[in-house]
Amino acid sequence: MLEAIRNWKQRRVLAQAAIPEPLWREALEWLPFLAIYTDAELARLRERVVLFLSQKSIVAARDFEVTPLMRVTIAIQACVLILNLDPRYYDGWENVIVYPDEFMTELEYEDEVGVVHRRHEPLAGEAMPRGPVILSWPDVEASADWSTAGMNLVIHEFAHKLDMRSGEANGCPPLPAEMPPRSWQKAMNAAFDHFRGRIEKGEETAIDPYAAESPAEFFAVLSEVFFADPTLLLHEYPKIYELFSWFYKQDPASRTELLLEE
Ligand SMILES: [Zn+2]
Repeated sequence: MLEAIRNWKQRRVLAQAAIPEPLWREALEWLPFLAIYTDAELARLRERVVLFLSQKSIVAARDFEVTPLMRVTIAIQACVLILNLDPRYYDGWENVIVYPDEFMTELEYEDEVGVVHRRHEPLAGEAMPRGPVILSWPDVEASADWSTAGMNLVIHEFAHKLDMRSGEANGCPPLPAEMPPRSWQKAMNAAFDHFRGRIEKGEETAIDPYAAESPAEFFAVLSEVFFADPTLLLHEYPKIYELFSWFYKQDPASRTELLLEE
């Protein structure tokens, strides 16, 4: 019964809150990595975006103004991760807050002897457990084109959001029953140690070295690569590519192959 009501509500939102075609087209042009998506995938993505926008508020911080194009481009990138997942994975929080620039945050951390330090640090993005996702618009804009930026801020923060479904981000999001967390952690830890070793040796990597920061950042950065430059992840860490294909229920590298055959 509840499922039937939910489906009915979804159909009503989809019928009433459609995204105008020119706005949708403009947003897609903004995100070149979507060029290889099939029409069927884009249609499903569009539905997910409409539902996302009906459930979340994308609001401006200070006197900034969030335009319809900004809202749609942010929502598209957020929904790329859950294209084939249960949209309820983003339940439990409401707002995306967009800043006109990098924002300051109070970071609190405890050192080895138990002293708590506070640090003021400008950030481009932040995801809070059960709280908002915060984004600096210029950084969203700069990272929309993977080929020039080599990073994607929105995908990064929303990967943290999936990870945070079980509390603090730790690089191991809640997994479907058929995948024991131990198998996930074993594969991720091995790849993380390997990547950190490369960074410590001073190797220049195509994958953002920020991934070596912690298992949580490794998961978020590699999720960016998985969606925006899937063949890079497939070549560098095939086991992680396989794990993510299973987790996200997508095989984005196969889209690239189709493109090469054309
Ligand atoms: Zn992060």
